[in-house]
Amino acid sequence: MRKPIIVGNWKMNKTIAETKEFLEAVDPYLEGIDSCEYGIAAPYTDLYCAVGLAKNLIIGAENCHFEDSGAYTGEVSIPMLKELGVKACVIGHSERRQMFAETDEAVNKKVKKLLDNGIMPIMCCGETEEEFDAGKTEEKVRRQVAEGLAGLCPECVKKVVVAYEPIWAIGTGKSADKDIAEKCCWIVRDEIRKMYGDAADEVRVQYGGSVKPGNIKEYMAMEDIDGALIGGASLKVDSFKELVDATK
Ligand code: 13P
Repeated sequence: MRKPIIVGNWKMNKTIAETKEFLEAVDPYLEGIDSCEYGIAAPYTDLYCAVGLAKNLIIGAENCHFEDSGAYTGEVSIPMLKELGVKACVIGHSERRQMFAETDEAVNKKVKKLLDNGIMPIMCCGETEEEFDAGKTEEKVRRQVAEGLAGLCPECVKKVVVAYEPIWAIGTGKSADKDIAEKCCWIVRDEIRKMYGDAADEVRVQYGGSVKPGNIKEYMAMEDIDGALIGGASLKVDSFKELVDATK
């Protein structure tokens, strides 16, 4: 049985004061919910505050470096996140792949190091609109999964969350049809099955891309979709609570 996991990806949004306001309103709202896990991935500057206030929300970072320390100006390492009490970390988001040149090789190093440190990797994959139109979605997703998750043990891969996020659906309001989302989440699992056998049945696969309170239920009802990674609709307290109401 896979427990669904809903994570808000705040991207470059929210000051510490705004984080405090959000956590004080949302975290108690999750008290006693056992059917689903909820989390947020926040900017580095918000993490100390968020970890201090969260009793129910899983607090995650949005990126990390795979080296423990060294001359990497502006980067944050996984031991630093661990010391803060961070429990999850988004890696390989399409914005980081496209704007900050994150490669599958770097994603793979981050997955391994996060697992070694007991932090849940939320590894993103997904195709561009051009790739979708050219019928290249499956090839792209399989490659990202195969390279990003290479060289793990079957017990380790169960701790990874994979988010399928078609790039054309991110922040566009143009969410993927639920059957397309299901097919791609199935492809993610099928690729993991090829690599790690039945461990694939325990890996949680999220859909992301213009998920809102009004459409989250239809994704969650699909067999291979075990939650969502949500940008815009995770930022406001009321909207996050509506996402919770729709999924708890
Ligand atoms: P939106 O929900 O704003 O489309 O963003 C999706 C996303 O990129 C989550 O990681």
